[in-house]
Amino acid sequence: DVIQEERLKYLTDQKGIKAVTVLFSDLEGRLHTLDYDKKFLVKSFDNLTFDGSSIRGFTAQRESDLRLGIDWSSFYYAPADIFGSGKALVFGEVIDKNGASYSGDLRGVLKNFAQTLFDEQGYTLNAANEIEGFLFAGTDAEKKFHETGKFEYVNTGGYYHSLPGDPLRTFIDTTAEVQRALGFENEKDHPEVAPSQFEINYSYGDVLTAADQIQLYKLICRQVATKMGMTASFLPKPVVGVNGSGMHTNLSISKNGKNLFWDPKGEEKLSSFGWKFVDRILSHGNDICLLLNPSVNSYRRLDPHFEAPNQIKASAVDRGSMVRIPIGNEKSSRVEVRSVAPDANPYLVLYSIFKSGLHGELAKIKNIRQAERYLPDNIYTALENFRGASWTSTLLGEDVKARYADLKQASADRCPRLLGTFVKPSEVQFHHEVY
Ligand code: GLU
Ligand code: MG
Ligand code: MG
Repeated sequence: DVIQEERLKYLTDQKGIKAVTVLFSDLEGRLHTLDYDKKFLVKSFDNLTFDGSSIRGFTAQRESDLRLGIDWSSFYYAPADIFGSGKALVFGEVIDKNGASYSGDLRGVLKNFAQTLFDEQGYTLNAANEIEGFLFAGTDAEKKFHETGKFEYVNTGGYYHSLPGDPLRTFIDTTAEVQRALGFENEKDHPEVAPSQFEINYSYGDVLTAADQIQLYKLICRQVATKMGMTASFLPKPVVGVNGSGMHTNLSISKNGKNLFWDPKGEEKLSSFGWKFVDRILSHGNDICLLLNPSVNSYRRLDPHFEAPNQIKASAVDRGSMVRIPIGNEKSSRVEVRSVAPDANPYLVLYSIFKSGLHGELAKIKNIRQAERYLPDNIYTALENFRGASWTSTLLGEDVKARYADLKQASADRCPRLLGTFVKPSEVQFHHEVY
């Protein structure tokens, strides 16, 4: 493996690098890190094990030993001011006892899915995510919310309102700088519509890189905010009465360098291949909603009065639609899924949307793109849809499907208790588990 050889040599040569942080994510998308001493890793990278029983959604106690492989194609030099000095970052691959990629590691599932499509059809799956978040005062703003019932903004701005020296502007600039150091191709960044809200955009990439970059984006934002004595929050709807935070997911598929979604003569300049992709996503809109909106709080966001979708339809203009077709050209033609929340597992999101769009079944619904159908407005309905759908068994297998549903059920049930008073689950505004 050429890349592996190259990276190992690089690590050995770079005297400044002392340790390597290996990143992987649990079933709910929580990012985990393990730091290995560089010299040890270079010697032993093909014989790493860890205890999977402490990772939510991974193994049961009795089968807790898992192997950790290194995906050398994902490799980042880590800027010292954020990650501590002398570190590099790589993503890990969770491997079961038999040497196969582990079914609960959705990064591996996504990687294999994309690789198979490339090998068999020549497809490259591309994704770009627009990740919104809030910057709040204090380093433990999400915990403090439980005592005070309030988040404290650090800026009163609004869309494009950014003045030099403003804390939100400083946060955005610092984050963008760290992203550049990690090799993100930044495009634009700005305060979003709500006070203290931000969005930092960077270039699309192949689907696996895109998912990894979502994890890194959130990690970097949290680190930069902490250093500033603040909290970066990816709760979908932290504050009532203002816009929530979305993670609009833009998708396209290319073959031999040609964008298969582009057709200048197609409706909205989207090819019939692209429209079929959209129709299948709409067909499974209810089935996969729990994967795109995984928390109690995420259902609070799905309100068209705040530019977030609540309808399972497709439109070029209507921002209340689950799917939008942005204006594009030969290169940028794409489909935007707007219902995705920033606390979702990015690997699960990208895998389930691409797989639904390519391999899903078309529902027998008349005029599916405009039919009046709604996304669930609370997590319990979403859970019911998810459990009841045969498509989610096809997507994840019965075992992973059941584990995921159980985790979501548990977090929803825990929610009113965490708030200390009894609240009807549908009225719960917030819970403190962050992803
Ligand atoms: N904040 C909105 C949402 O929750 C999106 C605003 C926008 O279109 O950028 O999805
Ligand atoms: Mg936005
Ligand atoms: Mg968008």
